[in-house]
Amino acid sequence: MNLDDVPRMKFAHLPTPIEPMTALRESFGGPNLFVKRDDCTGLAGGGNKTRKLEYLMADAMAKKADTIITLGGIQSNHVRQTAAISAKLGFQCHVAVSNPINTDDQQYLTNGNVLLDHLLGAVVHRVPPEEETDKLVSRLEEDLKASGKNPYVIPIGGSNVLGSLGYVTCAREILAQAEEKKIDFDWIILPIASAGTLAGLAAGLRLTSAKTRVLGISAWKLQDELQDTLFELVEGVCDYLGHPCDLSPGDPSININYNFIGKGYGLPTKKGLSAIKRVATTEGILLDPVYTGKAMAGLISLIEENFFQPTDNVLFLHTGGSQGLYGYVNFLLPLFR
Ligand SMILES: *Cc1c(COP(=O)(O)O)cnc(C)c1O
Repeated sequence: MNLDDVPRMKFAHLPTPIEPMTALRESFGGPNLFVKRDDCTGLAGGGNKTRKLEYLMADAMAKKADTIITLGGIQSNHVRQTAAISAKLGFQCHVAVSNPINTDDQQYLTNGNVLLDHLLGAVVHRVPPEEETDKLVSRLEEDLKASGKNPYVIPIGGSNVLGSLGYVTCAREILAQAEEKKIDFDWIILPIASAGTLAGLAAGLRLTSAKTRVLGISAWKLQDELQDTLFELVEGVCDYLGHPCDLSPGDPSININYNFIGKGYGLPTKKGLSAIKRVATTEGILLDPVYTGKAMAGLISLIEENFFQPTDNVLFLHTGGSQGLYGYVNFLLPLFR
């Protein structure tokens, strides 16, 4: 299948800008730092899930669905973007949300993305501690079918082959912007969780034979849990587009760093929080405690360890998430005291 022939709905604000992070770069003396503003894709605050949803919602339409079901953590940005596009396109939206950090902090449970999910009209189902999210999703699907609905289930993070195509498109967009700006990006660095974003980017770069390497900073899984999922997804995307890409673990074009997860998914780290503060105060850009703060902490550490050449062009993919900041207010405030 040719990428241009895959059904896609166009609602993202594209192309997202690529901006130099001059002040941040000056604080290190190199490499050259740029940011791709995928936090500005449009859907109720935007983020990386919006590009995936352009393909997933087209598929839901083609299947004549009337209801969308998806899942994530309570502060999921994916859930919020899905709720927003469902509202706009007139789908009922059911979301199953778990408590990945096992907290009873009221801001976390009610503010940030959750507040927005409610505002956007999603039916929010809290996953009880003793139940698995996937089971709740199956139950919702069965119940909705029994009541005569035609539900469409979007997997966690929108990370299946179709969703990942959003980032094949993004790889093309980045390469076109690079050509226009006459910058060869040596690296694209981004957070990785359910892996669709990185898989799509890596496949997209491979299919265009670009030399740019991707570096994912894991925000969720360790190597044994992530690696197979990631490479199956990359292969799935390439196969779908009719060009097997023969990427396997150890390929120098795909790098994953697992050192910045901290105590676990969704749990803020000191380094992540200080990276958020540093980028806010040097660039006026808001990162988030779950993904982009940890990825930026990784970028900063790698710069300090001289991982990059001083002349390298490094593009940080800002995948969004600042709406989650409000849910994390009680974790963030101690930083300012
Ligand atoms: C979902 C998400 C990610 C991770 O993307 P995956 O495709 O799941 O790997 C990164 N950053 C933000 C802000 C997200 O919401």
